[in-house]
Amino acid sequence: MSAPLKIAVPNKGRLSEQALELLSKAGLHVPLHARSLLADVNGQWRLLFVRTQDIPEYVATGSADAGITGLDLVAEHGASVETLLKMGFGRCRLVLAVPRLSQIKQLSQLQGQRIATVFPNLTARFFKERSVNVAVIPLSGATEVAPHVGVAEAIVDLVETGSTLQQNGLVELETMLQSEAVLIANNLSLHTQKALLDELQAALKSVLDAKARRYLMVNVPRSQLESVKALLPGVTAPTVMNLLGREDWVALHAVVHESEVNRLIPALKRCGVEGLLILPIERMVS
Ligand code: AMP
Repeated sequence: MSAPLKIAVPNKGRLSEQALELLSKAGLHVPLHARSLLADVNGQWRLLFVRTQDIPEYVATGSADAGITGLDLVAEHGASVETLLKMGFGRCRLVLAVPRLSQIKQLSQLQGQRIATVFPNLTARFFKERSVNVAVIPLSGATEVAPHVGVAEAIVDLVETGSTLQQNGLVELETMLQSEAVLIANNLSLHTQKALLDELQAALKSVLDAKARRYLMVNVPRSQLESVKALLPGVTAPTVMNLLGREDWVALHAVVHESEVNRLIPALKRCGVEGLLILPIERMVS
């Protein structure tokens, strides 16, 4: 049997729970008591529980074949890894911000100024590319206070809504990066562990694709079939079946987007449908 695929997974922090939930839905269940440093799953997978920030390094150096971490951390590390999948959680932005009362209103005015950040490499790259000379002040957290205590004139920090910046009297000048959780793999493993990486990627993708979709089942008067189909413009070929003993009715099944469901319910009712069921979908493979 081939070696298990080593997957680095956040052991705590913002991305940990959702990464584990996704893996579990994809069939990689890790019992709570097994979430220490290493967990073997089905003989095929070996999960390494490590810090989110360290995952790009583990994957880039080959200590892990693959990993789940933030795109921001991959970019900061500069890791030479492949992004296999964007996972749709852990969404945030890396922004450049200055105090609300600052004279600085645009990027070029930061020439010769100090920028405090937990992302020194990304920040240095960003300003270099724009030919603005700045001094990058690396901090390990709580950058929002830096401009208020004279450590820096601006900061580069992660935000979700921007409300923390606002509370700290800061305003955004620019979004430098859009981030979310990603599945990464190192280039060597893409060859040596191709089959397992393909399997992992496909399994996770099928769960992610299913997440925003619902399976709709409904009985429709045959005379209303065209009106009901018109309500489902995104659905290419809904399944239509005869109903035993009810010649003038059909059963219609279709996969619809979750965001469509509330609009569809009253509209379908107006078409005189019966027995409307909306079910979750576990996996979707396209
Ligand atoms: P952790 O330090 O383990 O809690 O994880 C931090 C990672 O979570 C970041 O590098 C981002 O990829 C992600 N994240 C998502 N939203 C935020 C946010 N509002 N602030 C900081 N990190 C976030």
